[in-house]
Amino acid sequence: MIPLNGAWHFIMLFIAMLQQGSLLRKEYVPVIDPLELNIQKFQTLYQNIGDSTITPDSAEAAFKALFLDFKELTQTQLANCEEDLKKGYVFPVRGYSPRLSIGGRGRGYRPKDFNFFDSRIRKSHPAHDLFIRDRDNDGIDDVMCIHVDILAYTSGLVLGIREDWTSASQWRGGNYVWIYNPCLNALMYYAHFHTVDVKPGQWVKAGDILGKMGRTGFNAQQPRSTTHLHFMYLNITKEGLPEPVNTYTQLLNSRVIDWWED
Ligand SMILES: [Zn+2]
Repeated sequence: MIPLNGAWHFIMLFIAMLQQGSLLRKEYVPVIDPLELNIQKFQTLYQNIGDSTITPDSAEAAFKALFLDFKELTQTQLANCEEDLKKGYVFPVRGYSPRLSIGGRGRGYRPKDFNFFDSRIRKSHPAHDLFIRDRDNDGIDDVMCIHVDILAYTSGLVLGIREDWTSASQWRGGNYVWIYNPCLNALMYYAHFHTVDVKPGQWVKAGDILGKMGRTGFNAQQPRSTTHLHFMYLNITKEGLPEPVNTYTQLLNSRVIDWWED
């Protein structure tokens, strides 16, 4: 037990620290990391675009500002780019040959009329659908009898996820993951996850597990839909705007990570 004068000593010291403000500064004032703040803003913006609670013009202006900031805030990562890009791309579906998995031999990619900022425009499909063997459409691979791993195509920073999708939701992407790669200044979108294994703010390497394949999403859940991963690659232009890129050739030549590999 602390003697009385000892206890007083601690109390006085505590009061002195309070007066100096050091306790308050250290313990009670949350310091928000600018990168973390930008990630939160991205998630809010994407939600607002999806819900049409922001006009396309305002969304575009907000996106530009955000991605000029992301470029600035991830400058320190650029030192690792050469080594990172040398390792090449990883096919996002574990154990699958790109040739067999990519839908329609790459003809699923339709960038015409793409508008990231207006979710009411739904004609385009600036993405590739990557399929698995799932004849009964239950989301589980017919041969391996598991939910297949979704792997990161490149390294990057997780900007946003959804993992609480329900079948009542109108969201077409279902459960999804957004990743920003500062070396390429590009944004990647993976959709229709069964479960998501990453969190916003997390850095991943090419080939890391992002989650499991599933059938979440307004259309993807329908019985007629064949189980697939929707994969979109958006280059960020000098002006800070998203521009779809056809990754068909890169996907065909990407590295396949097999079932037993780490
Ligand atoms: Zn798709």
